[in-house]
Amino acid sequence: MQRREFNQLLNDILKPHTINDFCPNGLQIEGKNEIKTIITGVTASQALIDAAIEKNADAILVHHGYFWKGESQPITGMKKRRIGALLANDINLFAYHLPLDIHPVLGNNAQLALLLDIEIEAGLEPVANSVAMKGRLKTPLTGEEFANKIAQVLNRSPLSSLVRTDKIETIGLCTGGGQGYIDLAAEQGLDAYLTGEASEQTIHSSREQNIDFFAAGHHATERYGIKALGELLAQEHGFDVTFIDIDNPV
Ligand SMILES: [Zn+2]
Repeated sequence: MQRREFNQLLNDILKPHTINDFCPNGLQIEGKNEIKTIITGVTASQALIDAAIEKNADAILVHHGYFWKGESQPITGMKKRRIGALLANDINLFAYHLPLDIHPVLGNNAQLALLLDIEIEAGLEPVANSVAMKGRLKTPLTGEEFANKIAQVLNRSPLSSLVRTDKIETIGLCTGGGQGYIDLAAEQGLDAYLTGEASEQTIHSSREQNIDFFAAGHHATERYGIKALGELLAQEHGFDVTFIDIDNPV
């Protein structure tokens, strides 16, 4: 498929024009015109680029790309090496940030909820495109049981703050660095809040507002959206797609 057509296909699926984001969504670095072999991953790190070069990929498709609001603009050092390698090898870089978090089926939130048997019911924020979601566990579990389930499913023990004795039924969730939403979840009386990362203050929010908290890893919680998107591109559009998991403990 031609690059322009591929970009359009992704935009049709993820609708980035409907979302205010902190980075450009879609084609970020232009490479060759014809796209067949695609490497997907969470972040466009050097290791992912090296893997794409080795596999002779035409494009890299990620959740965390480049050109974030507020970052240093000059293309030097690490940034020069990454962009230089993409340009030298004529590899396209496509990135979708919030559109890939909130997509109702392929999104990071939706895919994580599916894996953890959470039924998403609504957005946590009172806006149309809420990044954080809320719902309930299909089978209520104690905090400890739910932490064990996360560890099993994500292959990584979560950092948790378990402050309640009752089982968890209602839960807020936001993959990645969504710890700031814990207060909104508490305000709405949810039993628990699940995200990728934790800050020092998150634990106080959990303890003082009696809400169980789980930080299951920014990387670990955001592997599944891009994976699901890649599988759709392979199954429905015939692309040769390989998901490469460059492990990250955060
Ligand atoms: Zn993220």
